[in-house]
Amino acid sequence: MDIKITANSIKQLCENVSYNRGLAFFNAGKVEITSLTDDLCEAIVHAAEDFYIRVERQDEKNYKATCSCPKLDHFTLQCQHVAATLLAIEEQQRLTGMN
Ligand SMILES: [Zn+2]
Repeated sequence: MDIKITANSIKQLCENVSYNRGLAFFNAGKVEITSLTDDLCEAIVHAAEDFYIRVERQDEKNYKATCSCPKLDHFTLQCQHVAATLLAIEEQQRLTGMN
């Protein structure tokens, strides 16, 4: 992804509970990145069932994330699967020296 993702930006997108659950998925190795380009990342989070996540780059600073899990109507922040995926992307960027 040609955009810088940091732990802080993930925390802004996801509330604390989702962030912490996402971190647990990530640490447990449940995130599988299936496709990663400058503009798009697709991943599968292997939770109780598999959830499919897409993270699309919007511009220099913004990205839009969607997940296949059923979200509650009032739940406007991102879910734990998106948090886990963003953490995995952030790690990839660190490993490849982008951060
Ligand atoms: Zn989800």
